[in-house]
Amino acid sequence: MSARDGTEKMLFTAEQIAARVRELGAEISRDHAGSDSLVVLCVLKGSFVFCADLCRAIDLPLRVEFLAVQSYGSSTKSSGDVQITQDLTRPIEGEHVLIVEDIVDTGLTLSFLLGLLKTRNPKSLEVCALLHKPARKKRHVDIDYLGFTIEDEFVVGYGLDHGQKYRNVPDLVVIDASD
Ligand code: 5GP
Repeated sequence: MSARDGTEKMLFTAEQIAARVRELGAEISRDHAGSDSLVVLCVLKGSFVFCADLCRAIDLPLRVEFLAVQSYGSSTKSSGDVQITQDLTRPIEGEHVLIVEDIVDTGLTLSFLLGLLKTRNPKSLEVCALLHKPARKKRHVDIDYLGFTIEDEFVVGYGLDHGQKYRNVPDLVVIDASD
């Protein structure tokens, strides 16, 4: 048995992802140069690997916070009915906040999160997403830092799951998840 059993094709190798994450980290470090109050907000669970790598690619003082969301629907389609299952433990009022998301698909999850976090009065609120699937967009959201734009395929690995499996596959791979 292997962690990647059932996967169909390679989308981005671990090396390609690492190179892109380094670029994103450098861009974020440049844009926030001089700042000493960046809050990196990791949206669990899918972003945990990306966020761990991204944080180490950002050469600025920062703190990391975690937020867990659950979107009800089928295993592969967000319904837009998003709930916070684990909230922040500290306020973000007056802070520069960078939301780190694994993938923006319909945009429903992120637009819910942006709406919620704005009510907590951060100084600024930006988004860094590893992947974007524009084909399925239902709600427009501005992505300030984006890893890769992809086709309408179901992607797993590098933290992303299907039924909680595949998060430990180091590459981003496609599976047939039609349900
Ligand atoms: P949205 O609300 O933008 O439709 O969906 C965002 C969430 O749906 C993501 O954070 C992720 O959990 C899940 N999702 C959407 N597309 C994919 C995909 O291709 N692979 C995986 N593993 N999850 C996805």
